[in-house]
Amino acid sequence: MNPAIQVSELTVAYQQVSALENMNLIIPQGSRCAIVGPNGAGKSTLFKSLLGFEKARSGQIKLLGQSDHLSQMIATRVAYIPQASQVNWQYPATVYDIVLMGRYPHIKNWLKRPTAKDKEIVFASLEKMNLLDLKNRQISELSGGQRQRVFIARALAQEAELYLMDEPLAGIDIKTEEIIMSILREFQEEGKTSVVIHHDLNTIENYFDYLVWLNKTVVASGELAEVLTFENYQKAYQSSAQLLFKEKEQGGWRHA
Ligand code: ADP
Ligand code: MG
Repeated sequence: MNPAIQVSELTVAYQQVSALENMNLIIPQGSRCAIVGPNGAGKSTLFKSLLGFEKARSGQIKLLGQSDHLSQMIATRVAYIPQASQVNWQYPATVYDIVLMGRYPHIKNWLKRPTAKDKEIVFASLEKMNLLDLKNRQISELSGGQRQRVFIARALAQEAELYLMDEPLAGIDIKTEEIIMSILREFQEEGKTSVVIHHDLNTIENYFDYLVWLNKTVVASGELAEVLTFENYQKAYQSSAQLLFKEKEQGGWRHA
């Protein structure tokens, strides 16, 4: 089976500053994969370059076995959940409008008019994310957890095969966290792949089965049980390692 993501020698730079350098990565299909690394490690940049939002200076990207005509394929088969802090929540749109956006790449008629089937999928996605009551609410009037659920619902409506989520658990309530994690397990049962930028090392073992330590390049990656080691943590986080070690002795993995 083709990997869901295959990246070779990827370098991405903003002006003179490189965010990713000669990065190599393979993420198998059907993984529940976490990406961890310090602030500024290039995690968000990796997603943006996979999606074609940031142009790579060099390297190759293959998604779901395909390396050509990626933009067309991404629109229907790859769902992206951006970091909440990078979204303009004042944009005038209802919950329903945003979830319907997940269907647009699939709508073939030139007026882009959703069919009964499209609407059915939107309603099913809203229901799954517990958002039916909120469907007419403006997105500016939602809590952090509700906003995150709207984005997951949009991704569900898109019926993608690969889900890229940038810190979906940041600033949300535990109930929403549980809903999101159960969705990732469902994706896995359906053979779909999720890749999640994640910050809480304490929950990583429960939530994921594949792990990538990133700091400008891949420090380590593989089956979670093999690469979730303190040594890899130290390599990825460098200067804060000492601080963490103390806390690890006290039985946890928590870090700043
Ligand atoms: P992470 O998501 O791991 O915190 P990012 O991918 O957002 O890291 O950023 C990686 C590096 O690239 C950082 O040094 C950041 O300051 C820089 N960077 C990110 N976006 C831009 C941009 N649009 N213009 C210039 N530099 C950027
Ligand atoms: Mg980021």
